Amino acid sequence: METKYANFSDGRYEALNRVELEIPILCPHCGVSNNPINRIQGHNGYSNTYIAFFSHTCTACNITFFTIQSFIKTNDKYAKKAIMLAVSPSSHNRKFEERIETFSPRFVSSYNQAFSAEQSGNLDLAGMGYRAAEEILIKDFALKIIENGSPEKREEIAKLNLNNTIGKYFKDDQALLVSTDVVRINGNDYAHWDRSDDFDTDSHLQEQKAYLEIFINIVNTRLMIINPPVSREKH
Ligand SMILES: [Zn+2]
Repeated sequence: METKYANFSDGRYEALNRVELEIPILCPHCGVSNNPINRIQGHNGYSNTYIAFFSHTCTACNITFFTIQSFIKTNDKYAKKAIMLAVSPSSHNRKFEERIETFSPRFVSSYNQAFSAEQSGNLDLAGMGYRAAEEILIKDFALKIIENGSPEKREEIAKLNLNNTIGKYFKDDQALLVSTDVVRINGNDYAHWDRSDDFDTDSHLQEQKAYLEIFINIVNTRLMIINPPVSREKH
């Protein structure tokens, strides 16, 4: 798991005065960049280390995760930089809207495989994975929403590559076309042998994810409109 350091200070305790905590780079709940509110929940000093238990509330999703931090003692002083011994939850699956989970369980599964690769720092693998996940969602969208689940169209869509699927089904809708094309093109770069040496993997991945997010939101909105919780006839 990729981690970063977050400043923390509690003047009441010498060992925790102006220290740096080691925390996951992404929130384990929502996968958004992690700048949580850190609170100490318990701590104890030992002869060779200081152990502290923290809660971290994500400012993006408002859900809390927990870590145990160790401050190693050398020359009678505790280190200012902590080592994260454990984090909970440690399974980092992204939770999607129930609607999306039901509509395309394979998309959710593929997305989370890519997400897991990203959290392990395997960014090329993550980039290819997000692109593959997107392809599943695009084809499910084309078949289930645009073609009303027609069995004949299923064969046809299965044979189309991603580029042609987007061209055939999304060309008249600017939001669908742009959001999916950016993910497709960025995703291709991770697999290409001849990409430039100054390719910035991380910033491309963040851009790719942002556009994938737009597409996921469009799918979610369409599903809400197709299946409203109330209908005019009954009211
Ligand atoms: Zn979060």
